[in-house]
Amino acid sequence: MLPNARKKQILTWLKNEKALKISEISKRLNVSEMTIYRDVKPLIELNHALKIPNGIGLPNPPRRREGECPSCLKPVHTRLSFEISFDKKQLETFCCARCGLMRYNDTKEDVTQVICKDYLTDKPIDATGATYLLHSDLNLNCCQQQIITFASRIHARQFQTGFGGDVYHYEEAIRILTFEMDGNASQRN
Ligand SMILES: [Zn+2]
Repeated sequence: MLPNARKKQILTWLKNEKALKISEISKRLNVSEMTIYRDVKPLIELNHALKIPNGIGLPNPPRRREGECPSCLKPVHTRLSFEISFDKKQLETFCCARCGLMRYNDTKEDVTQVICKDYLTDKPIDATGATYLLHSDLNLNCCQQQIITFASRIHARQFQTGFGGDVYHYEEAIRILTFEMDGNASQRN
């Protein structure tokens, strides 16, 4: 079973059973406890699960206030913000592309529109057509797996010349991000 499939399974069990031991998950999925720790780490970071002694529990209901990111509860600043519209006219605004893309990846089927901002002009753009700069040296003081979004690939390249990092399309950025959230950052080339 692939990491993403395991994580989905773990979240399903968690919903039904409220709490799970790492050893129990490891037994059920027939993989090492080390692997399970790696699987649940991003779930805990995204507040999909709560760390409890020797296992995970259901997360506390988010005490989210207006203007806070639904994923990490950081304040949402406009320049980096990332919006996802869902069916039923529901709208979620995330602090940055990292939180937004992770959420998108979990809820793809229900998403009707994704909007991010061009970092240089602060103008809203269709996120699926944006260019994503990952791993740059610029410290934005937001989430790890820092992602900067640009309307123009040329601008992203120019920015990259000064601040380093790697330039990706939408789907590539999601793939790299989920790969790294799965704890494989050290294997990245
Ligand atoms: Zn966030």
